[in-house]
Amino acid sequence: MLKKELGIFTYGDLLNFFPYRHIDKTRITPISDLTPSLDFAQVQGKLWYYEMAGERSGKRLTAFLTDETGVLELTWFKNVNWIEKNLKQNEVYNVFGRISFFMGKPQIVHPEMELVKNLSTSTKNYLEPVYSTTEKLKTKGLSGRQIGKLTAALFTILTEAAVPENLPDGLIKKLKLLPRFQALRQIHFPTTPALYEQALRRLKFEEFFITQLRLAKVRSDRHRKSKGVIFEKVGDLFNTFYKEHLPFSLTGAQKRVIKEIRNDTGSGHQMNRLLQGDVGSGKTIVALLIMLLAVDNGFQACMMAPTEILAQQHFTSISTLLKDLPVGVHLLTGSTPASERKFILKALAEGNLSIIVGTHALIEEVVQFKNLGFAVIDEQHRFGVAQRASLWKKAPIPPHILVMTATPIPRTLAMTAFGDLDYSIMDELPPGRQPITTVHRYDSYRTRVMDFIRGEIDAGRQVYIIFPLIEESAKLDYENLMGGYENVKAFFPEPRYWISMVHGRQPADQKETNMKRFVSGDTQIMVSTTVIEVGVNVPNATVMVIENAEKFGLSQLHQLRGRVGRGAEKSYCILLTSSKLGTDAKERIRIMTSTNNGFEIAEKDLELRGPGEIEGTKQSGILNFKLADLVKDKLILEAARKIAEQLIEDDPELEDPANQPLKNYLLSLHGKTPWSKIS
Ligand code: ADP
Ligand code: MG
Repeated sequence: MLKKELGIFTYGDLLNFFPYRHIDKTRITPISDLTPSLDFAQVQGKLWYYEMAGERSGKRLTAFLTDETGVLELTWFKNVNWIEKNLKQNEVYNVFGRISFFMGKPQIVHPEMELVKNLSTSTKNYLEPVYSTTEKLKTKGLSGRQIGKLTAALFTILTEAAVPENLPDGLIKKLKLLPRFQALRQIHFPTTPALYEQALRRLKFEEFFITQLRLAKVRSDRHRKSKGVIFEKVGDLFNTFYKEHLPFSLTGAQKRVIKEIRNDTGSGHQMNRLLQGDVGSGKTIVALLIMLLAVDNGFQACMMAPTEILAQQHFTSISTLLKDLPVGVHLLTGSTPASERKFILKALAEGNLSIIVGTHALIEEVVQFKNLGFAVIDEQHRFGVAQRASLWKKAPIPPHILVMTATPIPRTLAMTAFGDLDYSIMDELPPGRQPITTVHRYDSYRTRVMDFIRGEIDAGRQVYIIFPLIEESAKLDYENLMGGYENVKAFFPEPRYWISMVHGRQPADQKETNMKRFVSGDTQIMVSTTVIEVGVNVPNATVMVIENAEKFGLSQLHQLRGRVGRGAEKSYCILLTSSKLGTDAKERIRIMTSTNNGFEIAEKDLELRGPGEIEGTKQSGILNFKLADLVKDKLILEAARKIAEQLIEDDPELEDPANQPLKNYLLSLHGKTPWSKIS
């Protein structure tokens, strides 16, 4: 039962099933009920008598507490003089501590004492853990309280040896961490708030540190042991393209990232790199150059995009860029006609096709490459770890993999959810871009927004108008979109103005036609749901209007805004909302109107939504920290990462005897966490 409902299999699992809070425990145990199995207990009674024994450092203070049921012995070895002075004979005390038995009689050594008459106002001195349970378990009579009892019982039989330390001694000393056994005990049954805090600190660190250590090991092993194909030379394709067809000069960040990738792809080890860049920072061209490098070295290269529209667009722009070069580019998606698909599959398998762009269709079992050397995954967070891994299997030596994010990921997520990857950052936009002006307007302002749009269109620009599409109310949103479309049409009548509309319910070919008409400039207005959110590139578009902007998340808003400001003209993002806004929505709008920086927005997004909600990380399981919090405990994570990296660098196989506890612990974990599958 416990197994199925809570994932508790062993006593170790029980130990690590932490209470989600503690309550002040006011239950008082009669002295005659004290048993060796009670461990900690709270007793209330009159201080009957006390006396000092022994001399100097051997001094010992003993007191006797009585209630109606018996006598409890209390003993102190430290601070005895001070304690003796403060004890009040014949007063009623509340006493808490660990029960031990001496010659069959109960005693507490160094109890916590509180005068009962002070109790109402004073601190709680016994906290009872509260555990979560499930409804199903409750109906079987297993409440959180019973889990607590099980845990408490466990602690009475558990010895320190059964819960070995898993961190190196030196680390514990250096960081002044509570030993593991003690920390676990305190997290369940805290004796003082201070100790509870220390236990939390220790266990949070441990959680982050163990994760980081494993990720560092994955990276280190890959750097040292994996086999990777080598892109040795910079060949004709790369050189010709770079010198003659590159439509602009690269930014410093682009050059730096290309260098980082070239280092990796020349090392003989497999590359697994995350490229983080803000919207519009020019990731595509970086990927393309490396694809050419791969082909120059006799390998095939592929680029995988999360949507059909995006794959199509990459295909078009790459084909255009490469049109004068002796290399073919093909497209494989779900809607590729059967005959063409057949041709492509054959050519890929025989090695007659060097560059392919596509969707998920590329990772299907039937797609076989002759010698895939480089795979780009665009707009990562739509693809899961498993999908990434399936690309590896497409060649005897796994291809180099470059994962590109749609918008930046918060640093803490990059370190955890994508922590098995090396990463590059492109924090520079191509020159000449004007910052996008973002404003917030209420619905009632719509007419004036439309007037503004008309001005832009009349000046030759193009405009996006985006409507939300949220799963639960798809029908409503659809009507909303249609209503919006009619509304826009009323403002912008044909034949002076033309409107494209794209939404998820359209057949692919219709979507594509509408998209194409907007890209080519045949239509001036694109009315759409978020299907165009990612990646679409129409540099002539200068206005992004987002309807019901309060319904969008931050990274989505930022990604949408990134559809404009891609050309030389001044661009605008207009967030339309109803006049009633919740606190979070207000905050999102405030952030959007105050910064264009995707890295900043990513951090705020994480703060507002929490890690569980960030797309693509939910399934991975890697963010299921029990105690640690990616937002609040960022500093602990940074420290854990740094220390873990250093440790793996110094001792990659954990051979140093000092690291033996870690090694043993990692072995004991083997196969128990979902992300052990990453490697
Ligand atoms: P993202 O990083 O969002 O995928 P893209 O790769 O789509 O960005 O690039 C955005 C736009 O910037 C494209 O039109 C691209 O041609 C252009 N671009 C990329 N690099 C540069 C550069 N170094 N100088 C000028 N324009 C560039
Ligand atoms: Mg892109």
